[in-house]
Amino acid sequence: MSPKAAPAAILILIFSLFGLCASGSSNPFEGPLGLVVIDPGHGGSDPGAVANGIEEKSLNLQIALALRDELSKAGINTILTRDDDFYLGLQDRCDIANSADWPLGVTAVFVSIHANSYATSEASGLEVYTCHEDRFVPVLTSLSPSAQGFRFAALSPQEASNLRWDASASLAGSVLEAMQRAFPSMKSRGVKQDNLYVLNCTSMPSILVEVGFVSNPEEAQSMKKASFVSSMAKAICAGILSAAD
Ligand SMILES: [Zn+2]
Repeated sequence: MSPKAAPAAILILIFSLFGLCASGSSNPFEGPLGLVVIDPGHGGSDPGAVANGIEEKSLNLQIALALRDELSKAGINTILTRDDDFYLGLQDRCDIANSADWPLGVTAVFVSIHANSYATSEASGLEVYTCHEDRFVPVLTSLSPSAQGFRFAALSPQEASNLRWDASASLAGSVLEAMQRAFPSMKSRGVKQDNLYVLNCTSMPSILVEVGFVSNPEEAQSMKKASFVSSMAKAICAGILSAAD
């Protein structure tokens, strides 16, 4: 670099850094991970899928508790929507996420844990859901400014929804990849989009993980093992952490 070019280069560098900071601070879903809301699907009077001696609600809870422990080891705060076998409505789950608080400068994500079921026993494999890409998420603009609302104040509702989806899709891809690495013999059914309540109505990037099919006898057999629960929790944790890198 010639001495004459140096001042111009320094100016460009300053403006670039300023631009990076400005764009970083305008995306409330970017930054180091500070909180994971873990949502074990079903519970209490709602067992979820039941087949081959497995009740989904119980498997979901075991994985969720193990995931909480893995994330705690990594220094990440967690909130469980339920930590025992009781019924919790879908809006209750969203209310827990949407009333959570976490410090400025870090981000939060929502991870719902489920197991699949199908009418025939052949269906198998892992999949992760996000909401639809064009989904408008009203809660992003209805939160009180003194709670989470201030995070989204600089964005239009559609911009906030789009940024939330981008972060959800990246999280979903990362978690599915980690699950696939931990369970190479299980089929990857991919990242899918669906109109699911907890994915549509939570303020943070949100995914729903399907850890396999209780209706598939082989997968159900494997799900009954403590090693399945612990490996699945470790894999989901690794996926969450690598998405946040
Ligand atoms: Zn379920």
